[in-house]
Amino acid sequence: MDAKAEALQHLVDSSNRIVFFGGAGVSTESGIPDFRSTDGLYNQKYDYPPEEILSHTFFMRRPEEFFRFYRDKMLPLDAKPNRAHLKLAEWEKAGKMTGVVTQNIDGLHQAAGSKKVFELHGSIHRNYCVKCGKFYPPEFIRDCGAPVPCCTCGGRIKPDVVLYEEGLDNDVVSGAVHAITSADLMIVAGTSLTVYPAAGLIRYFRGRHLVLINRDATPVDSECDLVIHGKVGEILGSLS
Ligand code: NAD
Repeated sequence: MDAKAEALQHLVDSSNRIVFFGGAGVSTESGIPDFRSTDGLYNQKYDYPPEEILSHTFFMRRPEEFFRFYRDKMLPLDAKPNRAHLKLAEWEKAGKMTGVVTQNIDGLHQAAGSKKVFELHGSIHRNYCVKCGKFYPPEFIRDCGAPVPCCTCGGRIKPDVVLYEEGLDNDVVSGAVHAITSADLMIVAGTSLTVYPAAGLIRYFRGRHLVLINRDATPVDSECDLVIHGKVGEILGSLS
């Protein structure tokens, strides 16, 4: 184990109130591309920029194109948790976590066994009719060739993910803030920290040690007690 991983191991061993704040980089080792890396979705060519496709306005005005992109790029239903997800679940089971706050929508923390997960941007695993609230599983969205109306009321079916122009869920934010403010160690990982208001939540941390694990530099590197530039799955997977 190298010196930085050893330093992180020491922080983890001396803490029982760890909060993890993660983003798309936590799932790249599960084969799900992030947005802003060179091989991320934002650097591929589409008819419209992904930021526009993933907006509320676009969802309302061009549902066919929205769902074509969403089905192709945002529904990795076969992906499996990697060593980062599994380690966090293990720490939660050992009573060491106040929670996992994630910007991801892939459900891999829960698949790994984590229970205290605050999904700031929702989940691909939930879909609802906006009119009557009827629930639809992700396989329904995957298997439909085109956007289909709700079979009960004819309303529009929407993935429970937070699109650009939409607000975050208040209960999820409150839970996340509580997990962050009650932690003594915060590990921020796999996020460019450029998507607001989610990225701003790390400002609620009042604990002792702030650690950052990310492949590329982020705006908060200089404020952290420990910065590890590397792969979060490899690094957390090497810890006990
Ligand atoms: P981002 O794409 O802006 O940034 C990802 C960051 O992770 C980059 O800084 C990159 O250097 C780093 N990274 C990539 N692989 C890594 C690895 N293996 N280990 C450590 N670092 C790694 O992602 P973001 O900050 O989360 O913001 C993008 C938004 O996109 C989020 O709000 C999220 O909802 C959404 N998104 C989610 C998923 C998912 O659910 N898996 C995938 C793509 C995008």
